[in-house]
Amino acid sequence: MRAIPATRGPRGAPPPPPPLAALLQSNALLDDAALAGATPLRADVLVLGGGGAGAAAALAAAGAGRQVILATKLRMGDSNTVMAEGGIQAAIGPEDSLQHHFDDTLRGGHNSADPHLVKQLVTDGPAVIRWLIGLGMHFDLEKEAGLGARLLRKKAGGTTVPRILSHRDVTGLEMMRVLREAVELHPRITVMNRCPAVELLSDDAGACVGAVLYDLEHRRFLLLRSPAVILATGGSGRLHLGGFPTSNHYGATADGLVLAYRMGARLRDLDSFQYHPTGVAWPAPLAGGLISEAVRSAGAWLVNGHGQRFVDELLARDIVAAAILREIAEGRGVTRGGRVGVFLDTPGLLARQPDLLETRLTGLKHLAHKAGFDPRREPFLVAPTLHYQNGGAVIDPQGETTIPGLYAAGEVSGGVHGRNRLMGNALLEIISFGRRAGAHAAARPVAAYSRGGIEHVHRWQRALAAAGLPRAPRAPLLYPDYAPFSLRQHAAA
Ligand SMILES: Cc1cc2nc3c(=O)[nH]c(=O)nc-3n(C[C@H](O)[C@H](O)[C@H](O)COP(=O)(O)OP(=O)(O)OC[C@H]3O[C@@H](n4cnc5c(N)ncnc54)[C@H](O)[C@@H]3O)c2cc1C
Repeated sequence: MRAIPATRGPRGAPPPPPPLAALLQSNALLDDAALAGATPLRADVLVLGGGGAGAAAALAAAGAGRQVILATKLRMGDSNTVMAEGGIQAAIGPEDSLQHHFDDTLRGGHNSADPHLVKQLVTDGPAVIRWLIGLGMHFDLEKEAGLGARLLRKKAGGTTVPRILSHRDVTGLEMMRVLREAVELHPRITVMNRCPAVELLSDDAGACVGAVLYDLEHRRFLLLRSPAVILATGGSGRLHLGGFPTSNHYGATADGLVLAYRMGARLRDLDSFQYHPTGVAWPAPLAGGLISEAVRSAGAWLVNGHGQRFVDELLARDIVAAAILREIAEGRGVTRGGRVGVFLDTPGLLARQPDLLETRLTGLKHLAHKAGFDPRREPFLVAPTLHYQNGGAVIDPQGETTIPGLYAAGEVSGGVHGRNRLMGNALLEIISFGRRAGAHAAARPVAAYSRGGIEHVHRWQRALAAAGLPRAPRAPLLYPDYAPFSLRQHAAA
């Protein structure tokens, strides 16, 4: 059991940002008394999280004949996945190859990704697209001379060939539509909405054997025993690290990292987060919301307060975001309503390609409508927004963490992208590794059921005391710290 000292991360790695470090070092939400009254349940495979990774994992495990429970904090599909816009990468074009995809991904992550995981990711790409089409997902098509239609491929920042497949600029919505349908119709999957995981269960050997859920509707704890638990709880944008706004959904509060770490799982790259270059900077109510990379991919320029382009818009995200922050810091930004940013030149783009708004950039059209202006006449003011958790739980190519019985897939895991993610690789990751984790978890012997409990929490509390750390605050957070929610008060009411 390791608590992170304030000045140094695990194994000498750079430390996580202080608010995340504080959460990782925090005390558990529950104690033995809460467990004593908990309602017992069982599953062959327990999936935590109702986004893309959780859905893919549940479908794979159920497809292998297991009884699956998918428990999620909000409702099935309320997630970052449903908000994804630009698209998904897969090397399917004639000018592309798995090697190109592998090289681009490693380079985009500054050679810090785990090459075994990257190999698995890119190799799975074409099969993932076939699987999604089989579920009924629609992708944008283009005409091919003499051959009818083929999947439209677009270029993403940091890639050498066009490899992004999309459904307009609402790809995640379309993906989640088919995943949710498949999950909810599957006879071996039970979905438990509004039942966040508040702790994992461990056995005497330190394996993960289930989780404690809190049923928000009935205000009761559930003791869910399972020989395999898949963490698919997503990211941590709602921690607003560095004081940035975020593109993330309300439930992105790092719960999976907290639960895995308390049980002793290794985590990696926890100091590394992606700030998407084009978050809305103004109007204030929309601040942090995303303007998809699809807009830059279609040819929109970034322009500073002097009317100059200052960066190649299709470089990797971290480079473009840093360039915007430099323009702002050096006084070449644009201020509107007290918010500073640079312009995303949608009038220029839409003058060059007038039909884009109706055909491919429908998300942008809706956003402009909400903002109350015409993007053909006015540019968006943009600035970087906290977008993606690069690091997370260390996994092997089957999605297993360093704790037996505990799997992780999607944004909660680390190593697939290293310290920077290319656009489109997250949507590929959640299906590729979600399915891998689900299939591998399904292969665990069901006989491995054990009583399990929260002995790891007791050890953790002793470690906190020995390190002189306070027994408050408590985590997982479950909701952003500006939400009026306290589990203890809720459960006591
Ligand atoms: C606005 C936006 C646009 C994006 N666009 C793209 C794109 O074009 N291409 C791309 O590749 N990637 C994109 N991404 C990134 C990508 O969408 C996400 O990284 C990915 O979908 C994460 O999937 P996930 O299943 O790991 O997590 P999520 O989809 O976030 O799902 C996590 C789930 O876990 C649940 N949960 C959280 N805590 C608990 C708990 N304690 N107990 C139980 N359940 C819990 C949540 O409620 C949620 O249902 C985008 C992200 C955002 C925010």
